[in-house]
Amino acid sequence: MTLNKNNNIVRKEYLPYARQNIDDEDIESVIQVLTSDYLTTGPAVAEFERAVADYVGSTYAVAFSNGTAALHGACFAAGIADGDEVITTPMTFAASANCVLYQRGKPVFADINPETYNIDPENIRSLITEKTKAIIPVHFTGQPAEMDVIQQIAKDYDLLVIEDAAHALGATYRDQKIGSISDMTMFSFHPVKHITSGEGGMITTDSKALYEKLIQFRSHGITRDADKMIEDHGPWYYEMQFLGFNYRMTDIQAALGTSQLKKLDHFVARRRKYTSTYNEAFQGHDIIQTPVQNESGESSWHLYVIRLDLEKLTVDRKEVFEALIKENIGVNVHYIPVHLLPYYSGLGYQKGICPQAEKLYEEIITLPLFPAMTEDDVNDVITAVNRVIDQYRR
Ligand SMILES: *Cc1c(COP(=O)(O)O)cnc(C)c1O
Repeated sequence: MTLNKNNNIVRKEYLPYARQNIDDEDIESVIQVLTSDYLTTGPAVAEFERAVADYVGSTYAVAFSNGTAALHGACFAAGIADGDEVITTPMTFAASANCVLYQRGKPVFADINPETYNIDPENIRSLITEKTKAIIPVHFTGQPAEMDVIQQIAKDYDLLVIEDAAHALGATYRDQKIGSISDMTMFSFHPVKHITSGEGGMITTDSKALYEKLIQFRSHGITRDADKMIEDHGPWYYEMQFLGFNYRMTDIQAALGTSQLKKLDHFVARRRKYTSTYNEAFQGHDIIQTPVQNESGESSWHLYVIRLDLEKLTVDRKEVFEALIKENIGVNVHYIPVHLLPYYSGLGYQKGICPQAEKLYEEIITLPLFPAMTEDDVNDVITAVNRVIDQYRR
């Protein structure tokens, strides 16, 4: 513990809630691309795609400029269009639902299971209509959602499943790697996630048809594949067959991603270790609820979220949050339920549609968790949390 006696705060230096972990090998791999023939989508992107597909155990992987673009591509490939309904969770980043709006579809929010904070499959079932086309479960904090039940629902109603696995690279569900289970799975390589490519995203799939749509979508809807083209004007000829986007990843990003992927298991092991330290420190605490884990999955621990029993405190979450920031602990809140964001309110989504998620939002704080943290950092967080909670104990 780095207790500063003068002003009596736990840390002198601010500890962020997350940050990237870049080493000399990562830097060298990026430099190599900078002096090569390709800067954008070339051999390094193909190599990164192969490496991720092999890691998760999928047939195909398609890299995108970021995870949100990848989700947009997945919704396009799933055929989401005007008025189609897609069921997702509100306890996520806005991108999980925005991707449906990009395709003029309608996100439908199913409430969470109050134990695991993941989407509740029974709530999914109750929201299915004739317009429902897909389900986007999110593996909140890295803990896999109840995929066997979700897959069964998808089968019963002929729906596609797109997993938002931005938190779950390296996680497993019933001994299967996340990324190998559903029609499509999205990963993000934003710097706060398990591995980074600066910005970057990926869709993994076993379907050749979906793979081909994704490839074409990320490059304007253009194909140069002779088998797919309607006409042939000559060797220069290509066809734009639908309205796609420029969502390509660069070779610079991909080289960083491939180098980072080699360290993923080590990063996840660190995250699990620090999680155990937090769990032990707060086990049985009368005010702090530690994250509940399902037997069916093994989380890759993107986030460590504690839940407070506010009735036992003299203040709200906001005061606890601010007191932790004063101690230089970079806490955060994941997430503001998506349906409560002003844009979504403007679309007509109302407070009260997902009471469990709304209640959870009032009571949670995300503690710092990333592989480059030291044991001392983890202990500083524990000290600060205990001190702040005791200070506001009723
Ligand atoms: C990070 C994240 C995304 C979006 O990924 P980007 O690469 O930042 O576009 C989507 N969903 C969830 C749950 C995320 O955490």
